[in-house]
Amino acid sequence: MDLYKFNDLIVKIHNHTPLTQAEKAYIKEDLPSILVDIPTIHTVREYIHPVGVRLTGAPPRSYITSYALILAKKAFGTRELIDHPLYETIEKDLTLHIMRGSYEYDRPKGYYCCKICTMAVFPLFDLNLLHLISGKQIAEVVRQRIIAREPFFTQGVPAKLIDFTLSFQDQGL
Ligand SMILES: [Zn+2]
Repeated sequence: MDLYKFNDLIVKIHNHTPLTQAEKAYIKEDLPSILVDIPTIHTVREYIHPVGVRLTGAPPRSYITSYALILAKKAFGTRELIDHPLYETIEKDLTLHIMRGSYEYDRPKGYYCCKICTMAVFPLFDLNLLHLISGKQIAEVVRQRIIAREPFFTQGVPAKLIDFTLSFQDQGL
């Protein structure tokens, strides 16, 4: 899976660089065929994060799904459920797993799977992009806990991954 362009686009959004029409079209039309197996396969072997951190195990899937949703919401210009089979599936699955994390495993809101995966989904809360979840409220609380470097949220997480995660900023859609 070639994610060079994917990473390039997520960095553009992170840095507040507007997407071009061609980039929006790529996200709407081409990216879904690259990501088509993401909802069903359980192991993407590795993902090199734009900050250069090599992720293996569960995190690659968390990052690819979270970042794909950020790209899609920006490209489609909505925080509502996207009328596209892949992006709709991704959002529904992710929302279910996020809710299960706090309901079934009694974890604090905003914590997802593990510390590294929590960094993957945080921007979705921060940018308020999950239509069934009050992301802003969750992000405000979690941001303080990450800034305070609470071990539960940050122990062992590379500093540049934390910095990148916290520095997405809401720019509207
Ligand atoms: Zn995880």
